[in-house]
Amino acid sequence: MAHDPVCRIHLTPDEATARASYRGMTYYFCSEECRRIFLENPEAIRKEEVQWETEGEVQSL
Ligand SMILES: [Zn+2]
Repeated sequence: MAHDPVCRIHLTPDEATARASYRGMTYYFCSEECRRIFLENPEAIRKEEVQWETEGEVQSL
């Protein structure tokens, strides 16, 4: 399941209004606005994303 890295809602690729490729990854967004926010500062959002996913894994153990 994909999710919007900006507002963190889950969505399927079909539901995504916008998408962006960054460093070989495809990111899906609920809106053009979220895509714009991501592209303004992809490194910061990518970093948060990694932290968030790591926390998620820890919680699920
Ligand atoms: Zn969004």
